[in-house]
Parts: sequence; C-alpha cells; structure tokens
Amino acid sequence: MSVIVFCEQSEEGFKKYTLEAITYGRKLAESMGKPLIGVVNNSTFDEDVLKQYGIPTVHSFGGIPTGDSRKTAENVARIFEEAEGKILVLPINSTGKNIAGQLGILCEAGVVSSVMGLPVGTDPLKVPVSVFAGKATAEIKVAADKAILAIQTNAIAPEEAPAASVEHISHQPAEESAVTILSHETIQGEIPLPEAERVVSGGRGLKGPENWQILLDLAEALGAATACSRPVSDSDWRPHHEHVGQTGIAIQPNLYIAIGISGAIQHLGGVNNSKTIVVINKDPEAPFFKAADYGVVGDLFEIVPKLTEAVKKFNASQ
Ligand SMILES: Cc1cc2nc3c(=O)[nH]c(=O)nc-3n(C[C@H](O)[C@H](O)[C@H](O)COP(=O)(O)OP(=O)(O)OC[C@H]3O[C@@H](n4cnc5c(N)ncnc54)[C@H](O)[C@@H]3O)c2cc1C
Repeated sequence: MSVIVFCEQSEEGFKKYTLEAITYGRKLAESMGKPLIGVVNNSTFDEDVLKQYGIPTVHSFGGIPTGDSRKTAENVARIFEEAEGKILVLPINSTGKNIAGQLGILCEAGVVSSVMGLPVGTDPLKVPVSVFAGKATAEIKVAADKAILAIQTNAIAPEEAPAASVEHISHQPAEESAVTILSHETIQGEIPLPEAERVVSGGRGLKGPENWQILLDLAEALGAATACSRPVSDSDWRPHHEHVGQTGIAIQPNLYIAIGISGAIQHLGGVNNSKTIVVINKDPEAPFFKAADYGVVGDLFEIVPKLTEAVKKFNASQ
C-alpha cells in the first residue's frame, strides 16, 4: 500500500502548490513507512524537480486536454489502483477541486478537503482541516480504507529532500474523452491568486474602477496578486476571477492587504487564513480591524501611494 501524490504539470511546469503536495505526501509516506509514488498528467516533464523533492517512482499519462477533469480523474484513479494506493494527496488548486470528489467515488475512498497539516493519527487516519470559513480547525477521522487528502495551498512549505534516482513508468495516453473542451484561456502576465504569496485587495472604498491604478501600483511594487470584494466584481470594476470570499476564491497568502474593504463575514471567510493581514480603512470601527495583524486608520487615497513609495524605496535599497 502506497502514498500517491498527484503532481499536476501545468504549462509552466510544476507549480508551488504541487511542490507543497509532494512535501506533504513525502512526510506522510515517511511517517507511515509506505512507498511514495508520483502521478503526472503529462508524459514529458522535468524529472529533476521530482527527484529534488524526493519522489523515487513516477507514473505518467498523457493525451488529456487541459481542463478535462473527468479523464484526468479516471487516469489518476487507474494508477492509484494499479499501484495499490492507500492515500492520494493532491493540492486544492482548480484541478484538485474538480477531481477530488470524482476520485473519491472512483477509488472508493474517503475525501478530506481543506487539509491544514499532517495527520494527527494514521490508524485510523485523522487529519486536521480548516472549518467554518477558517475560524476553527477540526480533526476528521477517515472511516474508509483509502483516503483522498486535498491540501490547502500554503498549509505546508515545500521542502527539498533529493531522491537517489527516479523511476519513470509511462502509461498509454488516455482513450478518447467523452468531454470536448471547446476553449481554454490562460490568463497571461498576472500572478494567479490561489498561489500568490502576497495579495493586495480592494473594496468599494476605492469608489470606482478609475481609481484602481493606486492599488495596481502597490501590487506591482510588492510583486503581489490583486483581488477584490464581491460588490467590486459584481459592479464590473474588476474581473470575477479576482473576487475573494465565501462565494469567491478562498486564499491564504503570507500577506493580505485589504484596502477600503469593510470586512464582512462573507469576505473574511475567504481570506482570514492569511498569515499576516493588513487593513487600510478610514472607519476605525470597520469590522476588518478585528481580524487584522496591522491596521491603518485613514484615507486610502493618501495612504496607499505613500506605502507604494516606501516599498519602492525599500526595493531600490536592496
Ligand atoms: C450570501 C452572500 C455571500 C457573499 N459573499 C461574498 C464574498 O465572497 N466576498 C465578498 O467580498 N463579499 C461577499 N458578500 C458581500 C458582503 O456581505 C459585503 O457586502 C461585501 O464584502 C462588502 O464589500 P466592501 O467591503 O468592498 O464594501 P463596503 O461594505 O461598502 O465597505 C467599504 C469600506 O471602505 C471604507 N472606505 C470608504 N472610503 C474610504 C477611504 N477613502 N479610505 C479608506 N477606507 C474607505 C469604508 O469605511 C468601508 O469599510 C456576500 C454577501 C452575501 C449575502
């Protein structure tokens, strides 16, 4: 029985969320004394990265159009079965979210989502997860023999631990898919929100889309992704893929800067697992200050440009 990690290969290679899942899987396999196996959704990939992160055996399959979650899940499940998988680890990125439930059915395994740390027990398996929109942590006991663990991004830091060698077993490309992907669009030139280390986010306090440049300048100086509150994307001030919160994307970057956002519970639900929260708001009673590590009470139109200048000065001095 082995621990298997789904190592998604994106167009840019293995992303940080995959390295986090590999680190999780490796530590879990070591603690359980089980073999560690990687599954890659492409027959060509950078083996050195997997070696660097300690995966000794890799199975791969190709021929699946990007976004075909059904076929991806079927192929991962096939390898899980052939390799006698006990636990399958995958990151909660968009593919992970789409395939975790399908894998649970195909592999007859218990699915645990929003996993925040290594198991607190392995017989039976007990895993810490984030619940109530990040307000609490629960321990989930898996009653099934097999488990799918979907790891929250930024829950574990990627750690290298080189493997002596990597054995690569390539599987036949998937048969023709029942699903036809009509179009696939990759957003260019932006830092994807779910994997961003730093996020600068704006709310209705910015008054309108014409004022967004001050936020974009700060994000650029910090090397941060940009996000927004729901009314902002609902009003088409910003694109919908930037909407964070209970009904948007849930993120947990190392730094979240909330600018002109009141801190409604539905917004906090998607961001309050961030490691450090900085709030800029002119209302000292804004609820967001209760969740903040650092708060600035004042007019964002004065504060944000000054902050950007300070960050630029700091960058130039490095
Ligand atoms: C079912 C449901 C689901 C929802 N899901 C989400 C979700 O996923 N994400 C989400 O964000 N919301 C969600 N909402 C909406 C949520 O309840 C709030 O209405 C929303 O988050 C408020 O957005 P805001 O903070 O940008 O705007 P506002 O509440 O209008 O707050 C604007 C803030 O800007 C400050 N401000 C104004 N001018 C300045 C200035 N010059 N300088 C500094 N500060 C200034 C104000 O003091 C205020 O605190 C949901 C609501 C419901 C009912």
